[in-house]
Amino acid sequence: MVAADMNAAYRRSRRRLVELLRASGIEDLAVLHAFDAVPRHLFVPEAVRHRAYEDVALPLGHGQTISRPLSHALHLQLARLDGTERVLEIGSGSGFQTALLARLVQQVCSIEVIPELAARAQAQLEMLQIDNVELRTGDGSTGWPERAPFDAILVGAAAPVVPVPLREQLSEGGRLLIPIGNENGQRLLLVERKGEEWTETEVESARFVPLVGEEGW
Ligand code: SAH
Repeated sequence: MVAADMNAAYRRSRRRLVELLRASGIEDLAVLHAFDAVPRHLFVPEAVRHRAYEDVALPLGHGQTISRPLSHALHLQLARLDGTERVLEIGSGSGFQTALLARLVQQVCSIEVIPELAARAQAQLEMLQIDNVELRTGDGSTGWPERAPFDAILVGAAAPVVPVPLREQLSEGGRLLIPIGNENGQRLLLVERKGEEWTETEVESARFVPLVGEEGW
């Protein structure tokens, strides 16, 4: 297939994915628009590119996976973003959710511990001329104190408990989404800050790779 036909085919598959997300309960229009705009196929390895618009997790190499689209969409919807926020993402992975966030908020800070994945994500974001993301390689389990506070923090890997430095780096009214648990079972927690109090709501069961590092496993 020539490039223009390929792009048209990807566009059609992307539309079908957006319809599926909508049918699965995603109502946040900004989130749906972001999925319609960001080319997920550019964020997955070539070997699995033909499956980029299926609602499945795909291997990224280095033992890591890009989450299934519905999982990203649900997290972004739960974060209740209105476009004005500064957001911290822990576990950039492919950089796909980073690119979605870049469309949904003002400023994105993202941390990835595996240098090769960080470099690939960074290159892809640059290619798409996304300029409101600051991505660094390192341990994100203790957050990014120099850039705090954050209106939302999205963690893409499962921690043993809610890391104190992360809840401390939330702004007033800020939301932290984090899977808690090990390979045998996890639950996604929504932590919300009100002054010096934090409420925790269990959203659903989850299955993520482990968060490593100081506050990880
Ligand atoms: N949303 C990403 C998720 C990738 S999987 C995507 O769909 O592409 C989770 C990522 O978290 C992996 O890339 C893993 O290397 C990274 N990770 C695990 N522990 C981390 C830590 N302490 N700091 C930063 N990144 C971490």
